[in-house]
Amino acid sequence: MTDFTNKNILVMGGSRGIGEAIVKRFAKDGGDVTFTYAHSSDRAEQLAAETDSKAMQSDSAERDGVIETVKQLGALDVIVVNAGVLEMGDPLELDPDAIDRMIDINVRAPYHAFVEAGRQMNENGRMIVIGSTNADRMPFPGGAAYALSKSAMKGMVQGLARDFGERSITVNAIQPGPVDTEMNPADGPMKDMMHGFMAIKRHARADEIAGMAAYLAGEEAGIVTGASHTIDGGFGA
Ligand code: NDP
Repeated sequence: MTDFTNKNILVMGGSRGIGEAIVKRFAKDGGDVTFTYAHSSDRAEQLAAETDSKAMQSDSAERDGVIETVKQLGALDVIVVNAGVLEMGDPLELDPDAIDRMIDINVRAPYHAFVEAGRQMNENGRMIVIGSTNADRMPFPGGAAYALSKSAMKGMVQGLARDFGERSITVNAIQPGPVDTEMNPADGPMKDMMHGFMAIKRHARADEIAGMAAYLAGEEAGIVTGASHTIDGGFGA
């Protein structure tokens, strides 16, 4: 059990999937949660009502909007950047604009969000980004650009941990393996191939990833920083 009473928490990309589970977990544990979304207005409003949290429309592909959103929240205790997209396929065929948009959302947005959060963040603050086990292992073709975007998070958390450590702010990445969401449904066409790489052959539930986020945001993890934490059923083992 973690206690986030009176904590000012921002989850970027919280309307569905892993982000939704993180919003639910932090709200259940007493946090004052705001979350962003890009497209799913109805789902976002419903989640906000269910969890007594606040929904804000803010497209992570827009750098200035990301910075402004973080600024508006003032002195945060916890920021989780979960918003991410997946472009997979033959690199010779993929649309270069879609790849660049993925890099804007998966790489540029977390960097600018964390730097902006760092201007005002409270002592003992927590910065968490959702990376991927594909930062360490990309065992099939078609995932080069996605792996590129997620491996960038490893370097980012190492560096920003140094920049913000003096204020006891921790900076960490969570690296999930397959998680049952709309991005990667447990009954999707890639299921058997992905489970073939795993020691525990099932998709994670989003609330299992939220549990790791709660640990990293909680009091017990005050000395955990600059690290990427894999939670992948042995996908990368
Ligand atoms: P989903 O596609 O199920 O949900 C994505 C969430 O991010 C939604 O809330 C979506 O909002 C939001 N989002 C997407 N693009 C933007 C944007 N441009 N601006 C703001 N919000 C945005 O994905 P998952 O829950 O599966 O994935 C969440 C994170 O976890 C991603 O970073 C992903 O790369 C990572 N991950 C997922 C794995 C998996 O197997 N599912 C494995 C490893 C990592 P909206 O509803 O408005 O579109």
